[in-house]
Amino acid sequence: PAPPAETPLLAYLRRCQRDFADDHSGEVAQYIPELGKADPDHFGIAVATIDGYVYEAGDTDIPFTIQSISKAGVFALALDLLGPDKVEASIGVEPSGEAFNSIRLRPDNRPFNAMVNTGAIACCGLIAAAEGDGTFELIRATLSRLAGRRLDVDEAVFQSERTTGDRNRAIAYLLRTYGGIAGDVDRLLDIYFRQCSVLVTARDLAVMGASLANQGVNPLTGERVFSGYAVARTLAVMSSSGMYDFAGEWIYRVGVPAKSGVGGGILAALPSQLGLGTFSPRLDQHGNSVRGIRTCEAMSEAFDLHMLSRQ
Ligand code: GLU
Repeated sequence: PAPPAETPLLAYLRRCQRDFADDHSGEVAQYIPELGKADPDHFGIAVATIDGYVYEAGDTDIPFTIQSISKAGVFALALDLLGPDKVEASIGVEPSGEAFNSIRLRPDNRPFNAMVNTGAIACCGLIAAAEGDGTFELIRATLSRLAGRRLDVDEAVFQSERTTGDRNRAIAYLLRTYGGIAGDVDRLLDIYFRQCSVLVTARDLAVMGASLANQGVNPLTGERVFSGYAVARTLAVMSSSGMYDFAGEWIYRVGVPAKSGVGGGILAALPSQLGLGTFSPRLDQHGNSVRGIRTCEAMSEAFDLHMLSRQ
């Protein structure tokens, strides 16, 4: 359904979009060369409610790569596809306290959690062991169902990361040494790099967030994408590890499970309420979108979204 022409929420999103557009701090990610070409001034904010309304302000239809936000969806997919016992035995759920691309594993040689690269690559490996050549297509289709429309890959970003992704290659070899993944490392990383290169908009992130907030059922299409179990556990890991090494600060201040990506996106999901998607490519020192963080902080305060303050 189309939202009512003007609501307090829509007016608020527009005001945030206008006010925070003045903030030019932060830097566009450069370590994947193709990401450096993003227009730093793009800024979009979208909210999707679990009753299926979508509210948008600014550049909500500009495509950008999902990057690490994909890790949340792929973890939920692995839980449903392979069962929690198998996934939880291979990948931990503890915050790492380190950067997303840290190569360090837990003392038992498992990745800390599925929101950092070690865990995300291991997660991809678990799915690939079961699905073989169909793995990427399954991931793409699942993220698409979560967003309620077909999502495609930015081939230039994929090639760019593939060419420069030696750190992730190192992680994959380390994981293989300890049995965390098996088989051809480059084939597996192609799946992971493609998963990171899926194109989304701020609106897509809001709908994906609403699907998670709605216990795994996309509120726009009515389709169940994930089980309630997978969604609850994914939101739990997002709460403790979704915002790089700002996660503790984030859950304290904003109080909404979220995942960010170096493409400039943030997806937040407030259970039983709404999904929030923001896009602005300038990142702070943690790798989180500067304007995205400011928007989420402001929204949380204005609408009392902190999940632990709710009655
Ligand atoms: N593809 C990126 C990487 O693995 C994802 C990084 C991110 O968004 O945190 O380096």
